[in-house]
Amino acid sequence: MARSKAPKSETADQETGPIVVWLRDDLRLDDNPALALAAETNRPIVPLVVLDEESDGVRALGGAHKWWLHHSLESFASSLRGKGSRLTLRRGKAKDQVLDVIEKTGASALFFNRRYDQASRAVDDAIGEALGDQVSVERFTANLLHDPENVETTSGGYYKVFTPFWRKVSESGPRDPIDPPDGLKQPDTFPQSDDLEDWELLPTKPDWSGGIADFWTPGEKAAHDRFETFCDDLLSDYHKGRERPYADDTSRMSPYLRWGEISPYRLWHTAQAYANRRKTVPDEAIRTFLQELVWRDFNYHLLFHFGPLADKNFNDRFDNFSWRSSKKDLKAWQNGLTGYPIVDAGMRQLWKTGWMHNRVRMIVGSFLTKDLLIDWRDGERWFWDTLVDGDIASNTAQWQWIGGAGADAQPFFRIFNPITQSERFDKNGAYIRQFVPELKEMPDKHIHAPWKADKDVLEKAGVKLGETYPEPLVDHSEARDRALSAYDEVKG
Ligand code: FAD
Repeated sequence: MARSKAPKSETADQETGPIVVWLRDDLRLDDNPALALAAETNRPIVPLVVLDEESDGVRALGGAHKWWLHHSLESFASSLRGKGSRLTLRRGKAKDQVLDVIEKTGASALFFNRRYDQASRAVDDAIGEALGDQVSVERFTANLLHDPENVETTSGGYYKVFTPFWRKVSESGPRDPIDPPDGLKQPDTFPQSDDLEDWELLPTKPDWSGGIADFWTPGEKAAHDRFETFCDDLLSDYHKGRERPYADDTSRMSPYLRWGEISPYRLWHTAQAYANRRKTVPDEAIRTFLQELVWRDFNYHLLFHFGPLADKNFNDRFDNFSWRSSKKDLKAWQNGLTGYPIVDAGMRQLWKTGWMHNRVRMIVGSFLTKDLLIDWRDGERWFWDTLVDGDIASNTAQWQWIGGAGADAQPFFRIFNPITQSERFDKNGAYIRQFVPELKEMPDKHIHAPWKADKDVLEKAGVKLGETYPEPLVDHSEARDRALSAYDEVKG
């Protein structure tokens, strides 16, 4: 099946032949330019998804990703059936599979929405080259509000700081979203497709996905339903609500955006329309929400222009930084057994639900890289494996940022205090109690730092430090001093 030359189709007619729509992180009907514009031609459509774990540099999916992808594909395949079409699934090198499907269907065009990481762009370019003039290739912007190539500084460079990026992109609003196609014309025959079950994306031995399934419903419809709830109930207080880890106060759009089950254009315009209609949405709430969407674009801007964001320090002063290597500490952090309740609650929320609140992502990230002095790349990889929203740009850029090595307007040696952060953002300990049930009976005052509580308080709460709940892995103020002296090496 592998081939490197452009397939030559004798029957293909550039004007009327089938169009292969190759879908990647855009598993939706709504506002999907590749699909919608293919449908507009009234030519037969072959929707294709390739599970590519072989192309050079393309990052393998994490465990939680696979769970989501399985359910997302089930949902998307069903939506396509509703439009009279069928999803073709292929596994292998994307180039081989795309060329094979084009050959087998006699397609005369390939449509797809852009991706932005180096390895994926190289795959897309290689396919375009292999197809030459035989098959027309059309690429669309679907998943970012602002294509990284179209945003540049006055000197022609790229932005490294968010605020000027935000100012620049705010000069013009994003385009309107495109409605889903009414129907998708079938080809004479659909190509051979894998069976989704054979991809074995779901965990079995053991099946750790129960908590994730309780928390999430993948798919386009679920994305729209959740966003409507968010706009109805949460948007007007979003600027405050987004800092409450114990509440369900954020949009929870991140996995839907990650898999392209909802479009950022649809989110942008829907949120704005709600805010315009409802006079109860303060400017600060809507602005903060739109800014968060643009943070996502900013991370892609960095990824596109910088390149190897998952591997290489953005700030090269960190290339000589002496990270600690401690498998024991890394494991304690991963398992939510550091002895710092807010950190442990975050890590357990991640394991249980495949997601973590943004504030807590920052706290656990700072704890790993600053209190434990463990390389941000170890944290990034763990998140990549366990997050349902693990994103090639946001995860890498945000880990670099929290680890000090990233694009940051603030000093890189800023260190979060896990106790004061916990007292401030989870005052009554509701978040901690939810995910660290062994501390459930601790009084609010002591739940953030149980080792500081008197013996009788611990006894009354049924907590035995070192037995029912760990002693703190490090002393924060000592760890802070250690980190600051390590940073002296790179402060330069
Ligand atoms: P909301 O607060 O409702 O925000 C709406 C949307 O804006 C989000 O869905 C997201 O797409 C975007 N957004 C919000 N905050 C950020 C941000 N700081 N950076 C980029 N986009 C943002 N986000 C991911 O989508 N995937 C990741 O892999 C990821 N890894 C992260 C790792 C670390 C160490 C940190 C500190 C943050 C990470 N984030 C990541 C950003 C952020 O935590 C999540 O986007 C957010 O928590 C998702 O919840 P929500 O959809 O309810 O967000």
